[in-house]
Amino acid sequence: MDFHFSPEEEKFREEIRNFLDTSLTDELVEEVERGTEIGIGPLTWELMQRMGERGWLAPAFPKEYGGLGATRWQQFLLSDEMTYRRAYPLHLCGVGIVGPTLLQYGTDEQKQEYLTRIARGEIEFALGYTEPEAGSDLANLQVKAERKGDFYIINGQKVFNTGCHFSQYVWLAVRTDPNVSKHKGISLMIADMKTPGITVRPLWVMDNDRTNEVFYDDVKVPVKNLIGEENRGFYYILTALAHERSFPTGDLRRTFEEFVEYVKEEGLGDDPLVRQSVAQLATELQALQLLAYRVTWLVEKHTSPNWEAPMVKVYLTEFMWRFSNAATEIMGPYGQLRKGSKWVPLVGRIERLYRHAARRNISAGSSEIQRNTIATVGLKLPR
Ligand SMILES: Cc1cc2nc3c(=O)[nH]c(=O)nc-3n(C[C@H](O)[C@H](O)[C@H](O)COP(=O)(O)OP(=O)(O)OC[C@H]3O[C@@H](n4cnc5c(N)ncnc54)[C@H](O)[C@@H]3O)c2cc1C
Repeated sequence: MDFHFSPEEEKFREEIRNFLDTSLTDELVEEVERGTEIGIGPLTWELMQRMGERGWLAPAFPKEYGGLGATRWQQFLLSDEMTYRRAYPLHLCGVGIVGPTLLQYGTDEQKQEYLTRIARGEIEFALGYTEPEAGSDLANLQVKAERKGDFYIINGQKVFNTGCHFSQYVWLAVRTDPNVSKHKGISLMIADMKTPGITVRPLWVMDNDRTNEVFYDDVKVPVKNLIGEENRGFYYILTALAHERSFPTGDLRRTFEEFVEYVKEEGLGDDPLVRQSVAQLATELQALQLLAYRVTWLVEKHTSPNWEAPMVKVYLTEFMWRFSNAATEIMGPYGQLRKGSKWVPLVGRIERLYRHAARRNISAGSSEIQRNTIATVGLKLPR
């Protein structure tokens, strides 16, 4: 077992650090940290395009589609470094979810049309899965797509479709056959957000992020935008979900390091209970890092991390919860102050993390659903 990165990987990491040293500004980080409240802001698009020029936005894409044909480890290092520097937007669905799935199931025309533009930082995708009656039970989705000539006509409502207020496209799950068992009548397609008939309404989340309700009223989507075969969409979504559940941890590590510094500076570590609590968090953070490494290692070996990625998702989001809870207790009332308050420590990051953790347990699949997958797929327990 060797936990070191190779000399080439360390060199790559150094290049990323140098690039970020000269590219990041406080304004950019502030913009990224506003999350989906604004989505991808102008400074972030600019950074993405500069990265795209180097093939760094989607390094694992093949060179012909604007990537570097890089290893998963290089991609991991990139997202780890960027999240550590708080410069990685939470929502890069094109790079992380749509791109890899299109590489597997897309037509040549779709790959040409979308992959290069994703890799250059020109376009972004929202995920259009969830509906009022289809969240955990995604196969129950009802938004209807009826084929008429060269188009599908889409009608119905989605909810919690986060990127729809700033993305150019939506990666849309629809029902194309209502007469077969529910998993079998679903298709996946790409819709241009500018298509007439799409209405986006904001839904605000407790951590200040924005998500959306999206209404489709006779929306025309060209048949050429269908992914793979009609009615096999549910299986492509499973692939896309596996990609969605690989999460970088650099930002958490950075916040934890800053928190430990704060504990030292404020003399809070004189209390043995505080030391116990901080040591426990440090141990869990290390375990999280190793779980994330394992998922990257599996993907690099072309093994789908079907139940190992859910382990990272559930551990990561519940660690956010335990960390922000413990830190709030240790910091006392100061830990509850929001960014902008006169006496706020650590720029209010602990307080924001506390609110953010509550929703991260739900978005991208709730903790209960992740545990169901670990139990049934990983441990072969009954459904
Ligand atoms: C901030 C935010 C952003 C989101 N962004 C997107 C997005 O961009 N695109 C998108 O398509 N969706 C998005 N979602 C939707 C998200 O994936 C769903 O909210 C999530 O899957 C849960 O579905 P639900 O809200 O319908 O809850 P439900 O499925 O109704 O679940 C309610 C509760 O019951 C539990 N539960 C349900 N079924 C089971 C079961 N079988 N076993 C045990 N417990 C169960 C759940 O864990 C949960 O606690 C987002 C959600 C949030 C909150």
